[in-house]
Amino acid sequence: MMNDDLGTWRRTHYTNMITPNLDGAKVTLFGWVQEIRDLGNLIFVNLRDKEGVIQITVTTKNTDAEVFEKIRKLAREFVIGVNGLVKKRDEAPRGVEILPQEIKILALANHPLPLDPTGRVPAEIDVRLDARILDLRCPESQAIFKIRHEIVSTTRRVLSETGHLEIHTPRIIAAAAEGGASLFPVEYFEETAYLAQSPELYKEELISVFEKVYEIGGFFRAEESHTRRHLNEFISVDVEEAFVNVNDVMRLQEELIFHILKDIKNKCSLQLDTLGVKIPTIELPLKRYTYSQVIDQLKNNDFKIEWGEDLSTPACRVLGDIHHKEFYFIDEWPTKTRPFYIKPRSDKNELCEAFDFMYEWIEITSGGSRVDDPNQLINRLREQGLNPENFDFHLKTYYYGMPPHAGWGMGLDRLVMAILDRDNIRDVVLFPRDRVRLKP
Ligand code: ATP
Ligand code: MG
Repeated sequence: MMNDDLGTWRRTHYTNMITPNLDGAKVTLFGWVQEIRDLGNLIFVNLRDKEGVIQITVTTKNTDAEVFEKIRKLAREFVIGVNGLVKKRDEAPRGVEILPQEIKILALANHPLPLDPTGRVPAEIDVRLDARILDLRCPESQAIFKIRHEIVSTTRRVLSETGHLEIHTPRIIAAAAEGGASLFPVEYFEETAYLAQSPELYKEELISVFEKVYEIGGFFRAEESHTRRHLNEFISVDVEEAFVNVNDVMRLQEELIFHILKDIKNKCSLQLDTLGVKIPTIELPLKRYTYSQVIDQLKNNDFKIEWGEDLSTPACRVLGDIHHKEFYFIDEWPTKTRPFYIKPRSDKNELCEAFDFMYEWIEITSGGSRVDDPNQLINRLREQGLNPENFDFHLKTYYYGMPPHAGWGMGLDRLVMAILDRDNIRDVVLFPRDRVRLKP
C-alpha cells in the first residue's frame, strides 16, 4: 500500500477542540488510529492526537465508497489525516463525532504491536521501556510527561522571578570535581576526562559573580546498584545563592514546592485524573526535624541505628512509614556524613549546616551552607581523604573574594516520582539509563 502525501492538507483543529457546538463545521484532523470497531456497514475509528481522542464514524450510507474501503484497511497506530464534518450526536463519546469526507493514510504500523498503546493491557516495565515510543502513547505516560513539563516550567518561572540567573556548567570535567568514585570516564583526546556528577563546584564559583544562579540539567553517576530511585543519568535542579545560609535556601525550596503543587493542581487536572493522583495541600513552613530527632524516631520504631551513621535505604523506608505522604526536612546533620563543601557549625563542629528535603522515604534534595573560607575548605578536603592540589583550579577562586553562600541540588526525576506517587523512577524518565539499560 502506498502512503498518501501530506500535500496541502493542514490541521484546522486538535481533537479536544471538537465540541458539539461546532456541529456542521468542516475540519481537518491528523493523528494515530487508536482503535477500530468494524461492525460491517458501520465502522468506528478512534483518532488520537497530542490533545486527546475523537470518534470518527463511518457508514456505507453516508460515506463515499472509496473512503469506506480505505478506512477498512486501517489498523492501530496508522497515521492518518481526515477531512470531514463535525456531527453533534448525544450517543457519541463527548457528544460529538466526525463524518469523514476524505482520508489520507500517511504512515503504517507493523502488527502485532509489542504492547497495547491504550494502556488497558498492562505490561512489565522492561517491555514498556523496550518499546518506549509506543508506551509513551498510553494516556498515563502522556499525563506524566505533561505534568513533568509543568513542574519544570514552574521551576524556571519561580527561580527566574526570585532573581536567579540560569547557567550551564560543563558536563565534561577533569577528575577532581567532587572526588567521588561514581564518575564515568570519557576519552578526551590524549587524556581521560569524566562526566559531571553535579554542577556543585562551578555553581559555587559562579555566585561570586552573579550572586544567584540556577541550573537544570543532566548529570551522571556510575551507580552500580539497581534501585527504583537511582539512574545513571538524571536531571538535577541546582540553586546557589550568595549572602544567605541554609535556612534561606530551605525556605526557597519549600516555596518552590508550594508553587509547583499549586500550578499542577490548577493546570493539570485532566492529567491528574488520568493518573488517579490527588495533589496534597501543603502549608508552609514544612516540618523540620533535626538529624538527632530522626534518629530518635527510628529508635522509637525499633530500628537499630547509631547517632553518626548516614540514613540507609531501610532506615528511610521506616521514615516513610512515619512520614506518610509528607514532604519534610531533615537538618543539622553530623559533619562527617556530608561532602567537604558543606559548612560545619561554628559553635559545634561535629554538626553541619546541611539539610535533606524528603518525601516519605525518598530524598529529593540535598543542600546547605557552603564553606567559604579557603583554609577551612583545604582542611575539609584533607579530612575527607581528598588531595587539595587536585582542586587548585577551584581553590584559586576562593582568593578573589568569595562571599558566604548556600544552595541545593534537587533531583527532578525523584520529585516527579514523588508527586505522582510512582514507585519506579523509570516511569517518569523518557529514556532511562541504568546498569542494564543503554537502549533505547
Ligand atoms: P542518594 O543518597 O539517594 O543516592 P545522594 O545523596 O547521593 O542521593 P546528592 O548528591 O545529594 O544525592 O544529589 C542531590 C539530589 O540529586 C538527590 O537528592 C536526588 O534527588 C538526586 N540524585 C542523586 N543521585 C541520583 C541518581 N543516581 N538518580 C536519580 N536522582 C539522583
Ligand atoms: Mg544527598
